[in-house]
Amino acid sequence: MASLYVHIPFCRKACSYCDFYFSLNRDKYENSFTQALLQEILLVKDFFKDLPHQEAKKYAEHGLRSVYVGGGTPSILESENLKRIMAALFRNFKISAHAEISLEVNPEDSTAEKLLLWRSLGFTRLSLGLQAFSEQALVYLGRRHGYLKPMALNSLLKNAQRAGFKNISVDLMYGFASLEDAKWVESLKQVLAFNINHVSAYALSVEPGSLLARQIAHGRRAAVDEAHASRQFLLLRKVLKQQGFLQYEISNFSRNINSFSRHNMSYWQGRPYLGLGPAAHSYDGAKKRFINVSNIHNYARVLSNQKKHSTEIKALKQVEILSTQERFHDFLITRLRNLNGISLTEIEELFFENSGTKKLRKTFFKQVTLLEKEKLLYVYRGRRLRLTEKGLLFSDYIIRSFFIEKQDLVQQKTKN
Ligand code: SF4
Repeated sequence: MASLYVHIPFCRKACSYCDFYFSLNRDKYENSFTQALLQEILLVKDFFKDLPHQEAKKYAEHGLRSVYVGGGTPSILESENLKRIMAALFRNFKISAHAEISLEVNPEDSTAEKLLLWRSLGFTRLSLGLQAFSEQALVYLGRRHGYLKPMALNSLLKNAQRAGFKNISVDLMYGFASLEDAKWVESLKQVLAFNINHVSAYALSVEPGSLLARQIAHGRRAAVDEAHASRQFLLLRKVLKQQGFLQYEISNFSRNINSFSRHNMSYWQGRPYLGLGPAAHSYDGAKKRFINVSNIHNYARVLSNQKKHSTEIKALKQVEILSTQERFHDFLITRLRNLNGISLTEIEELFFENSGTKKLRKTFFKQVTLLEKEKLLYVYRGRRLRLTEKGLLFSDYIIRSFFIEKQDLVQQKTKN
Protein backbone atom coordinates (compact mmCIF):
# COMPACT_ATOMS: atom_id res chain seq x y z
CA MET A 1 0.00 0.00 0.00
CA ALA A 2 0.99 3.60 -0.49
CA SER A 3 2.80 5.78 2.00
CA LEU A 4 3.35 9.43 2.85
CA TYR A 5 6.56 11.19 3.86
CA VAL A 6 6.85 14.69 5.35
CA HIS A 7 10.25 16.37 5.29
CA ILE A 8 10.83 18.82 8.17
CA PRO A 9 13.96 20.65 7.02
CA PHE A 10 15.37 22.10 10.25
CA CYS A 11 18.38 21.13 12.35
CA ARG A 12 20.12 22.83 15.25
CA LYS A 13 23.57 22.06 13.97
CA ALA A 14 25.00 20.57 10.78
CA CYS A 15 26.40 17.07 11.34
CA SER A 16 29.65 16.80 9.47
CA TYR A 17 28.68 13.80 7.31
CA CYS A 18 25.19 14.95 6.33
CA ASP A 19 24.01 15.42 2.75
CA PHE A 20 20.25 15.78 3.38
CA TYR A 21 18.53 19.06 2.68
CA PHE A 22 18.12 21.09 5.89
CA SER A 23 18.30 24.65 7.19
CA LEU A 24 19.78 25.98 10.43
CA ASN A 25 17.45 29.01 10.26
CA ARG A 26 14.45 27.57 12.03
CA ASP A 27 13.66 30.83 13.86
CA LYS A 28 13.40 32.64 10.56
CA TYR A 29 11.56 30.04 8.49
CA GLU A 30 9.51 27.77 10.75
CA ASN A 31 6.22 29.65 10.45
CA SER A 32 6.42 30.30 6.71
CA PHE A 33 7.48 26.68 6.15
CA THR A 34 4.50 25.38 8.17
CA GLN A 35 2.14 27.64 6.26
CA ALA A 36 3.59 26.44 2.95
CA LEU A 37 3.38 22.80 3.99
CA LEU A 38 -0.30 23.21 4.90
CA GLN A 39 -0.82 24.73 1.48
CA GLU A 40 1.02 21.85 -0.22
CA ILE A 41 -1.20 19.33 1.62
CA LEU A 42 -4.28 21.03 0.16
CA LEU A 43 -2.74 21.15 -3.32
CA VAL A 44 -1.83 17.46 -3.51
CA LYS A 45 -4.52 15.88 -1.35
CA ASP A 46 -5.83 13.92 -4.37
CA PHE A 47 -2.42 12.46 -5.28
CA PHE A 48 -3.40 8.94 -4.20
CA LYS A 49 -6.85 9.11 -5.79
CA ASP A 50 -5.21 9.97 -9.10
CA LEU A 51 -2.75 7.04 -9.07
CA PRO A 52 -2.98 4.23 -11.66
CA HIS A 53 -6.26 2.31 -11.17
CA GLN A 54 -5.18 -0.57 -8.87
CA GLU A 55 -3.27 1.70 -6.51
CA ALA A 56 -6.05 4.30 -6.38
CA LYS A 57 -8.49 1.47 -5.56
CA LYS A 58 -6.29 0.18 -2.73
CA TYR A 59 -6.05 3.70 -1.31
CA ALA A 60 -9.83 4.15 -1.48
CA GLU A 61 -10.38 0.82 0.28
CA HIS A 62 -7.63 0.80 2.90
CA GLY A 63 -6.08 4.26 3.10
CA LEU A 64 -2.39 4.85 3.84
CA ARG A 65 -0.62 2.20 5.86
CA SER A 66 2.37 4.37 6.67
CA VAL A 67 3.11 8.03 7.39
CA TYR A 68 6.64 9.13 8.24
CA VAL A 69 7.58 12.56 9.55
CA GLY A 70 11.34 12.84 9.12
CA GLY A 71 14.02 15.37 8.35
CA GLY A 72 16.00 17.28 9.31
CA THR A 73 14.96 17.10 12.91
CA PRO A 74 11.15 17.11 13.26
CA SER A 75 11.35 16.96 17.05
CA ILE A 76 12.56 20.59 17.18
CA LEU A 77 9.35 21.96 15.64
CA GLU A 78 7.15 24.09 17.86
CA SER A 79 4.39 21.87 19.26
CA GLU A 80 1.71 24.14 17.84
CA ASN A 81 3.09 23.76 14.30
CA LEU A 82 3.41 19.98 14.57
CA LYS A 83 -0.23 19.88 15.78
CA ARG A 84 -1.38 21.88 12.76
CA ILE A 85 0.54 19.65 10.35
CA MET A 86 -0.78 16.39 11.82
CA ALA A 87 -4.36 17.70 11.91
CA ALA A 88 -4.08 18.69 8.23
CA LEU A 89 -2.73 15.25 7.27
CA PHE A 90 -5.60 13.46 9.02
CA ARG A 91 -8.13 15.86 7.50
CA ASN A 92 -6.93 15.59 3.91
CA PHE A 93 -5.70 12.01 3.50
CA LYS A 94 -7.33 8.71 4.24
CA ILE A 95 -5.04 7.21 6.88
CA SER A 96 -5.74 3.64 7.96
CA ALA A 97 -6.72 3.22 11.63
CA HIS A 98 -3.85 0.68 11.81
CA ALA A 99 -1.27 2.85 10.05
CA GLU A 100 2.30 3.04 11.26
CA ILE A 101 2.85 6.75 11.94
CA SER A 102 6.53 7.46 12.66
CA LEU A 103 8.33 10.48 14.00
CA GLU A 104 12.09 10.97 13.83
CA VAL A 105 13.30 12.38 17.14
CA ASN A 106 16.51 13.47 18.76
CA PRO A 107 17.15 12.18 22.29
CA GLU A 108 17.60 15.71 23.67
CA ASP A 109 14.08 16.73 22.54
CA SER A 110 12.36 13.64 23.90
CA THR A 111 11.09 14.88 27.26
CA ALA A 112 8.25 13.09 29.06
CA GLU A 113 5.93 15.96 28.15
CA LYS A 114 6.86 15.93 24.44
CA LEU A 115 6.51 12.14 24.23
CA LEU A 116 2.95 12.40 25.57
CA LEU A 117 2.18 15.14 23.08
CA TRP A 118 3.60 13.18 20.10
CA ARG A 119 1.55 10.13 21.03
CA SER A 120 -1.60 12.26 21.38
CA LEU A 121 -1.02 13.63 17.86
CA GLY A 122 -1.32 10.12 16.44
CA PHE A 123 2.31 8.96 16.23
CA THR A 124 2.65 5.23 16.86
CA ARG A 125 6.38 4.75 16.28
CA LEU A 126 9.53 6.63 17.27
CA SER A 127 12.75 6.60 15.32
CA LEU A 128 15.37 7.71 17.81
CA GLY A 129 18.50 9.30 16.27
CA LEU A 130 21.02 7.96 18.73
CA GLN A 131 23.76 7.43 16.08
CA ALA A 132 26.45 6.52 18.58
CA PHE A 133 26.73 5.48 22.17
CA SER A 134 30.01 7.15 23.12
CA GLU A 135 31.19 10.73 23.53
CA GLN A 136 34.20 10.21 21.24
CA ALA A 137 32.06 8.85 18.40
CA LEU A 138 29.58 11.72 18.64
CA VAL A 139 32.42 14.25 18.45
CA TYR A 140 33.76 12.55 15.29
CA LEU A 141 30.29 12.72 13.71
CA GLY A 142 29.81 16.35 14.75
CA ARG A 143 26.47 15.53 16.41
CA ARG A 144 24.97 18.15 18.67
CA HIS A 145 23.53 15.93 21.37
CA GLY A 146 25.99 14.67 23.95
CA TYR A 147 26.61 11.13 25.08
CA LEU A 148 23.42 9.66 26.45
CA LYS A 149 24.29 7.67 29.56
CA PRO A 150 22.52 4.29 29.81
CA MET A 151 20.41 5.65 32.69
CA ALA A 152 19.22 8.59 30.60
CA LEU A 153 18.34 6.30 27.68
CA ASN A 154 16.54 4.01 30.09
CA SER A 155 14.42 6.84 31.43
CA LEU A 156 13.71 8.18 27.91
CA LEU A 157 12.50 4.74 26.80
CA LYS A 158 10.42 4.30 29.96
CA ASN A 159 8.77 7.67 29.35
CA ALA A 160 8.11 6.68 25.74
CA GLN A 161 6.46 3.46 26.87
CA ARG A 162 4.41 5.30 29.49
CA ALA A 163 3.26 7.65 26.75
CA GLY A 164 2.05 4.60 24.79
CA PHE A 165 4.85 3.97 22.27
CA LYS A 166 5.30 0.24 21.75
CA ASN A 167 7.22 0.59 18.54
CA ILE A 168 10.68 2.14 18.99
CA SER A 169 13.56 2.10 16.56
CA VAL A 170 17.11 3.29 17.15
CA ASP A 171 19.44 4.69 14.46
CA LEU A 172 23.14 3.89 14.79
CA MET A 173 26.28 4.52 12.74
CA TYR A 174 29.50 2.57 12.49
CA GLY A 175 32.64 2.20 10.42
CA PHE A 176 34.46 5.40 11.43
CA ALA A 177 37.98 5.45 12.74
CA SER A 178 37.31 6.58 16.30
CA LEU A 179 34.89 3.70 16.85
CA GLU A 180 36.87 0.65 17.95
CA ASP A 181 35.43 -2.82 17.38
CA ALA A 182 35.20 -3.58 21.10
CA LYS A 183 33.37 -0.29 21.75
CA TRP A 184 30.99 -0.97 18.85
CA VAL A 185 30.07 -4.40 20.24
CA GLU A 186 29.68 -2.96 23.75
CA SER A 187 27.43 -0.14 22.47
CA LEU A 188 25.25 -2.58 20.57
CA LYS A 189 24.84 -4.78 23.62
CA GLN A 190 24.01 -1.77 25.80
CA VAL A 191 21.38 -0.51 23.38
CA LEU A 192 19.84 -3.94 22.81
CA ALA A 193 19.43 -4.47 26.54
CA PHE A 194 16.63 -1.89 26.37
CA ASN A 195 13.13 -2.49 25.22
CA ILE A 196 13.45 -1.44 21.60
CA ASN A 197 12.19 -3.52 18.71
CA HIS A 198 14.03 -2.15 15.69
CA VAL A 199 17.57 -1.05 14.78
CA SER A 200 18.72 0.79 11.65
CA ALA A 201 22.52 0.83 11.43
CA TYR A 202 24.42 2.55 8.63
CA ALA A 203 28.09 2.55 7.73
CA LEU A 204 29.36 6.11 7.69
CA SER A 205 29.74 7.24 4.11
CA VAL A 206 31.81 10.29 3.25
CA GLU A 207 29.82 12.34 0.75
CA PRO A 208 31.87 14.52 -1.59
CA GLY A 209 31.52 18.18 -0.61
CA SER A 210 30.46 17.40 2.99
CA LEU A 211 32.21 19.00 5.95
CA LEU A 212 33.55 15.58 6.90
CA ALA A 213 35.12 15.12 3.45
CA ARG A 214 36.92 18.47 3.92
CA GLN A 215 37.99 17.59 7.47
CA ILE A 216 39.45 14.30 6.24
CA ALA A 217 41.17 16.01 3.31
CA HIS A 218 42.82 18.48 5.73
CA GLY A 219 43.84 15.72 8.13
CA ARG A 220 41.54 16.94 10.91
CA ARG A 221 39.60 13.66 10.96
CA ALA A 222 40.85 10.14 10.31
CA ALA A 223 39.75 8.72 6.97
CA VAL A 224 37.13 5.99 6.75
CA ASP A 225 38.63 2.57 6.16
CA GLU A 226 36.49 0.10 4.14
CA ALA A 227 37.94 -2.95 5.87
CA HIS A 228 37.15 -1.46 9.29
CA ALA A 229 33.55 -0.75 8.20
CA SER A 230 33.12 -4.27 6.75
CA ARG A 231 34.38 -5.83 9.98
CA GLN A 232 31.94 -3.75 12.02
CA PHE A 233 29.08 -4.70 9.70
CA LEU A 234 29.81 -8.38 10.33
CA LEU A 235 29.98 -7.71 14.09
CA LEU A 236 26.63 -5.91 13.85
CA ARG A 237 25.04 -8.93 12.15
CA LYS A 238 26.53 -11.30 14.68
CA VAL A 239 25.52 -9.39 17.82
CA LEU A 240 22.00 -8.65 16.60
CA LYS A 241 21.47 -12.25 15.60
CA GLN A 242 22.68 -13.41 19.03
CA GLN A 243 20.14 -11.06 20.60
CA GLY A 244 17.33 -12.56 18.53
CA PHE A 245 16.95 -9.79 15.93
CA LEU A 246 16.07 -10.58 12.31
CA GLN A 247 18.00 -8.83 9.57
CA TYR A 248 15.47 -8.08 6.86
CA GLU A 249 17.45 -5.49 4.87
CA ILE A 250 21.15 -4.69 4.72
CA SER A 251 20.88 -1.93 7.34
CA ASN A 252 17.67 -2.91 9.14
CA PHE A 253 17.02 -5.36 11.95
CA SER A 254 13.83 -6.15 13.78
CA ARG A 255 12.87 -8.12 16.91
CA ASN A 256 10.14 -9.86 14.91
CA ILE A 257 8.29 -9.60 11.62
CA ASN A 258 5.60 -7.38 13.14
CA SER A 259 8.10 -4.62 13.82
CA PHE A 260 9.63 -4.38 10.32
CA SER A 261 9.50 -0.72 9.28
CA ARG A 262 6.39 -0.59 7.12
CA HIS A 263 7.48 2.70 5.67
CA ASN A 264 10.81 1.39 4.44
CA MET A 265 9.23 -1.85 3.24
CA SER A 266 6.85 0.16 1.16
CA TYR A 267 9.78 1.95 -0.60
CA TRP A 268 11.61 -1.31 -1.12
CA GLN A 269 8.55 -2.94 -2.65
CA GLY A 270 8.20 -0.12 -5.17
CA ARG A 271 4.88 1.11 -3.75
CA PRO A 272 3.72 4.68 -4.54
CA TYR A 273 4.61 7.41 -2.08
CA LEU A 274 3.96 11.09 -1.72
CA GLY A 275 6.69 13.32 -0.32
CA LEU A 276 5.81 16.71 1.18
CA GLY A 277 8.20 19.52 2.06
CA PRO A 278 11.32 20.95 0.41
CA ALA A 279 13.41 18.45 -1.59
CA ALA A 280 10.91 15.63 -0.93
CA HIS A 281 10.45 13.01 -3.67
CA SER A 282 7.23 11.31 -4.74
CA TYR A 283 6.56 8.28 -6.94
CA ASP A 284 3.37 7.10 -8.62
CA GLY A 285 4.33 3.41 -8.42
CA ALA A 286 4.66 3.23 -12.22
CA LYS A 287 6.71 5.60 -14.33
CA LYS A 288 6.62 9.05 -12.77
CA ARG A 289 8.83 10.52 -10.10
CA PHE A 290 8.34 14.05 -8.70
CA ILE A 291 10.93 16.17 -6.96
CA ASN A 292 9.96 19.18 -4.85
CA VAL A 293 11.76 22.51 -5.01
CA SER A 294 14.67 21.98 -2.67
CA ASN A 295 15.29 25.42 -1.23
CA ILE A 296 13.09 26.34 1.74
CA HIS A 297 12.78 29.98 0.71
CA ASN A 298 11.66 29.04 -2.84
CA TYR A 299 9.37 26.34 -1.46
CA ALA A 300 7.54 28.89 0.71
CA ARG A 301 7.48 31.45 -2.14
CA VAL A 302 6.00 29.03 -4.71
CA LEU A 303 3.31 27.97 -2.27
CA SER A 304 2.38 31.48 -1.24
CA ASN A 305 1.43 32.44 -4.82
CA GLN A 306 -2.29 32.57 -5.38
CA LYS A 307 -2.19 30.89 -8.79
CA LYS A 308 -4.31 28.15 -10.25
CA HIS A 309 -3.52 24.75 -8.71
CA SER A 310 -2.01 23.12 -11.79
CA THR A 311 0.43 26.03 -12.30
CA GLU A 312 1.41 25.93 -8.67
CA ILE A 313 2.01 22.16 -8.69
CA LYS A 314 4.14 22.53 -11.81
CA ALA A 315 6.33 25.11 -10.12
CA LEU A 316 6.59 23.01 -6.97
CA LYS A 317 7.13 19.50 -8.32
CA GLN A 318 9.53 18.71 -11.12
CA VAL A 319 8.35 15.59 -13.00
CA GLU A 320 10.66 12.88 -14.28
CA ILE A 321 9.40 10.17 -16.60
CA LEU A 322 11.46 7.09 -15.85
CA SER A 323 12.82 4.98 -18.69
CA THR A 324 12.74 1.16 -18.48
CA GLN A 325 16.46 1.23 -17.73
CA GLU A 326 15.95 3.71 -14.85
CA ARG A 327 13.04 1.76 -13.40
CA PHE A 328 15.09 -1.43 -13.62
CA HIS A 329 17.98 0.30 -11.87
CA ASP A 330 15.70 1.53 -9.04
CA PHE A 331 14.13 -1.90 -8.80
CA LEU A 332 17.50 -3.63 -8.34
CA ILE A 333 18.77 -1.04 -5.85
CA THR A 334 15.77 -1.34 -3.58
CA ARG A 335 15.03 -5.07 -3.89
CA LEU A 336 18.53 -6.50 -3.75
CA ARG A 337 19.17 -4.81 -0.40
CA ASN A 338 16.24 -6.76 0.95
CA LEU A 339 17.40 -10.07 2.48
CA ASN A 340 14.47 -11.86 0.90
CA GLY A 341 15.95 -10.93 -2.47
CA ILE A 342 14.28 -10.47 -5.83
CA SER A 343 11.72 -12.69 -7.48
CA LEU A 344 13.01 -13.71 -10.91
CA THR A 345 9.43 -14.18 -12.10
CA GLU A 346 8.64 -10.60 -11.12
CA ILE A 347 11.68 -9.30 -13.01
CA GLU A 348 10.60 -11.22 -16.12
CA GLU A 349 7.04 -9.86 -15.88
CA LEU A 350 7.99 -6.28 -15.15
CA PHE A 351 10.98 -5.78 -17.42
CA PHE A 352 11.66 -8.57 -19.92
CA GLU A 353 8.31 -9.38 -21.51
CA ASN A 354 8.62 -6.78 -24.19
CA SER A 355 10.71 -7.79 -27.25
CA GLY A 356 12.62 -4.47 -27.04
CA THR A 357 14.20 -5.58 -23.74
CA LYS A 358 16.07 -8.63 -25.12
CA LYS A 359 19.44 -6.97 -24.69
CA LEU A 360 18.67 -5.85 -21.13
CA ARG A 361 17.63 -9.42 -20.26
CA LYS A 362 20.74 -10.98 -21.81
CA THR A 363 23.10 -8.56 -20.03
CA PHE A 364 21.30 -9.09 -16.74
CA PHE A 365 21.55 -12.90 -16.74
CA LYS A 366 25.14 -12.82 -17.95
CA GLN A 367 26.00 -10.60 -14.99
CA VAL A 368 24.07 -12.84 -12.57
CA THR A 369 26.25 -15.79 -13.70
CA LEU A 370 29.45 -13.78 -13.18
CA LEU A 371 28.37 -12.62 -9.71
CA GLU A 372 27.40 -16.16 -8.75
CA LYS A 373 30.92 -17.28 -9.69
CA GLU A 374 32.34 -14.53 -7.47
CA LYS A 375 30.05 -15.84 -4.67
CA LEU A 376 28.40 -12.46 -4.31
CA LEU A 377 24.88 -13.67 -4.98
CA TYR A 378 22.95 -16.91 -5.37
CA VAL A 379 19.66 -18.13 -6.78
CA TYR A 380 17.49 -19.41 -3.95
CA ARG A 381 15.27 -22.39 -4.89
CA GLY A 382 15.52 -21.41 -8.54
CA ARG A 383 13.20 -18.46 -7.89
CA ARG A 384 14.83 -15.66 -5.95
CA LEU A 385 18.07 -13.80 -6.37
CA ARG A 386 19.73 -13.10 -3.05
CA LEU A 387 23.00 -11.59 -1.87
CA THR A 388 25.43 -13.88 -0.05
CA GLU A 389 27.05 -12.63 3.18
CA LYS A 390 30.02 -11.49 1.07
CA GLY A 391 27.55 -9.86 -1.33
CA LEU A 392 26.00 -7.86 1.53
CA LEU A 393 29.39 -6.18 1.97
CA PHE A 394 29.60 -5.22 -1.72
CA SER A 395 26.00 -4.36 -2.55
CA ASP A 396 26.84 -1.02 -4.20
CA TYR A 397 29.46 -2.67 -6.41
CA ILE A 398 27.02 -5.45 -7.35
CA ILE A 399 24.24 -3.05 -8.30
CA ARG A 400 26.62 -0.88 -10.34
CA SER A 401 27.95 -3.97 -12.07
CA PHE A 402 24.58 -4.49 -13.79
CA PHE A 403 24.74 -1.11 -15.44
CA ILE A 404 28.26 -0.13 -16.37
CA GLU A 405 31.00 -1.47 -18.58
CA LYS A 406 33.33 -4.01 -17.04
CA GLN A 407 36.52 -1.94 -17.47
CA ASP A 408 34.95 1.10 -15.70
CA LEU A 409 33.83 -1.16 -12.89
CA VAL A 410 37.29 -2.63 -12.37
CA GLN A 411 38.64 0.93 -12.11
CA GLN A 412 35.92 1.88 -9.59
CA LYS A 413 36.52 -1.22 -7.46
CA THR A 414 40.23 -0.43 -7.40
CA LYS A 415 39.57 3.17 -6.34
CA ASN A 416 37.31 2.00 -3.46
S1 SF4 B 1 20.41 15.93 12.39
FE1 SF4 B 1 20.17 14.60 10.58
S2 SF4 B 1 19.49 15.96 8.92
FE2 SF4 B 1 20.29 17.27 10.57
S3 SF4 B 1 22.41 17.67 9.99
FE3 SF4 B 1 22.42 15.88 11.38
S4 SF4 B 1 22.28 14.10 10.02
FE4 SF4 B 1 21.70 15.90 8.81
